[in-house]
Amino acid sequence: MPVIARRLVLGLLLLVCSIPLVADTDSPDLAVVAKIRHEGIKQTQVMKLAGYLSDVIGPRPTGSPALDRANRWAADTMRGWGLEQVALEPYENFGVGWAPHYVSVHLLAPSYAPLHAISVEWGSSTAGKLVGEPLYVTIGSKADFDRYRGRLKGRIVLYQPPRATSPHFTADARRHDAQSLAALATYPIPDEAPASADYARGFLDDLEEFFRAEQVGVLVQPSGGGRGDYGTVVASGIRSARFPDRPRPLPEIILAVEHYNRIVRILEEYREPARMEVEVRNAFYDKDLRGYNVVAEIPGTDKKDEIVMLGGHIDSWSPGTGAADNAAGVAVSMEAVRILKAIGVKPRRTIRVVLWSAEEKGWVGSKSYVAKHFAEVETMTLKPEHAKVSAYFNYDNGTGRIRGIHLQQNGQVAPIFEAWMRPFADLGMTQLSPRTTMGSDHGALDLVGIPAFQWIQDPIDYGTRIHHTNLDVFDHLVAEDLIQSAVITASFVYHTAMRDEMLPRKPLPPPSKYPVRR
Ligand SMILES: [Zn+2]
Repeated sequence: MPVIARRLVLGLLLLVCSIPLVADTDSPDLAVVAKIRHEGIKQTQVMKLAGYLSDVIGPRPTGSPALDRANRWAADTMRGWGLEQVALEPYENFGVGWAPHYVSVHLLAPSYAPLHAISVEWGSSTAGKLVGEPLYVTIGSKADFDRYRGRLKGRIVLYQPPRATSPHFTADARRHDAQSLAALATYPIPDEAPASADYARGFLDDLEEFFRAEQVGVLVQPSGGGRGDYGTVVASGIRSARFPDRPRPLPEIILAVEHYNRIVRILEEYREPARMEVEVRNAFYDKDLRGYNVVAEIPGTDKKDEIVMLGGHIDSWSPGTGAADNAAGVAVSMEAVRILKAIGVKPRRTIRVVLWSAEEKGWVGSKSYVAKHFAEVETMTLKPEHAKVSAYFNYDNGTGRIRGIHLQQNGQVAPIFEAWMRPFADLGMTQLSPRTTMGSDHGALDLVGIPAFQWIQDPIDYGTRIHHTNLDVFDHLVAEDLIQSAVITASFVYHTAMRDEMLPRKPLPPPSKYPVRR
């Protein structure tokens, strides 16, 4: 081969090697990324949004007046930014709403102590102020019922064993490090399978029936979940209690574990008398049994009948103010569309933000939306809109910044997301994970085959302190993390909206069932 020809071949080879591994169409638009970063960092409103939702509106159980207020506030706010098709979209049969109004619990003897307590969700009110000797019962099976029959009427009944505590030797909060991120790059076989099983009636239902028949005054349980200590009280409730044909649950409170344990020790170990005072007032709302999701759009242009979705759930548990779970996700999603409106993008596809309700009752809002618009999961009967959604991006893992994204076993999006992630390496987003993550509303879309993704977020103190507890309040949000999350969300949504093709999909999943819990 002549020298000139050899040089030509070498030149061509170098040219080929220098072409990036991703197609040109998936190179991020760095000019738009720069505008998104500038608007999202310099003009951020994300903490104001999260603050109004958590500090001012407060906890938002589905069906409560507070959630209704939150929905209207979110819709009005987005309307004010110029979003279109803004609506509170109803779905049938959420059931009865509920809100906590008042909890007051005290130990009066052997010495006075104010006790940290919250109401079980969807629990009833006490018959006024109950004052009396608490009774500790040990009921492990139906055979134990006879020992207590006739002794519980109107009583303050502690019905769960005390829970051992131990010092915490590890820090509450952490960020991902190179090692923990690298672990997410591996794919464990089998991957996390979506939990699915109909709730089967069990001993807890028998116990509930027994206590109801015995006309217990108020039930008391210790804060649980392995982290309900050091002032943390973890919420709980019965999801199916919202169904109007179910009897209303008894009044029930959850006590800080140290307070619960002390009372049990006084009664059981020292056999000393104790006195407690308990008053709980809750409200039920049964005039409108529907639930509502908030939707708002930035209309597309040449591909406006195709949709890119983003969102998070706007309902919350009640003991805190639902700040990390999930005012954070609402604020990030709203801020992402605010940024895109503010910089004046004209997306090819329509961008639709959806703020789901009743996520905490088992994805009720998102499942209902999917059934109405996209597909019946149990038969996989698809509706026309199913073919028109490019992707959904969900934010529901607390305040931690985005470190990557779970691909949900959709390997075809890896090179695309890799390219879109690159301009955010300096903000800490570097990791793709092939893994499936469920546990929030994107699961409802994923199970019918719509590309639906959840970010890899820094854990911070979400799993140790915040998630579903009285400490889920504004003070534990990390501003710079939510700013970063909104910027990255805006960029991914924008690039999904501008791509020539919709994002590639996984093979259509078989019919399945959504998970159902008690
Ligand atoms: Zn959540």
